Amino acid sequence: MDITCDRCGYEGSGEEFRHIGNAMCCGPLTFRECPSCRNPVICDRQEMREEIEDTAREISHRVEAAIAGKDTIQARDLLKELSFLNQCLNLDAINDYVREKKRQVNRIDRAAASPS
Ligand SMILES: [Zn+2]
Repeated sequence: MDITCDRCGYEGSGEEFRHIGNAMCCGPLTFRECPSCRNPVICDRQEMREEIEDTAREISHRVEAAIAGKDTIQARDLLKELSFLNQCLNLDAINDYVREKKRQVNRIDRAAASPS
């Protein structure tokens, strides 16, 4: 993986940039130090976002499967995970989706609890 310093434009391989730490959000953001100007460079940000979006998509598929199988406990867990991921992505579409699916899960639970 090649890294470019956003201050001085120095370009080098990952090994040349000394690892100086992580910042936590919903996953690690890696900080590395530019060997030329000592500027801390944040790596993997874009790649990470794509990875999180992929994970969110995958979780939503599992939510659908859990709801189809009326597994509301599983569905709630997955929705919690999804809103946690969205703290990083900040997508309205995911917020709306989680809200809508929570309502659906509650309806399934109510239907299961009522005497038939
Ligand atoms: Zn630099």
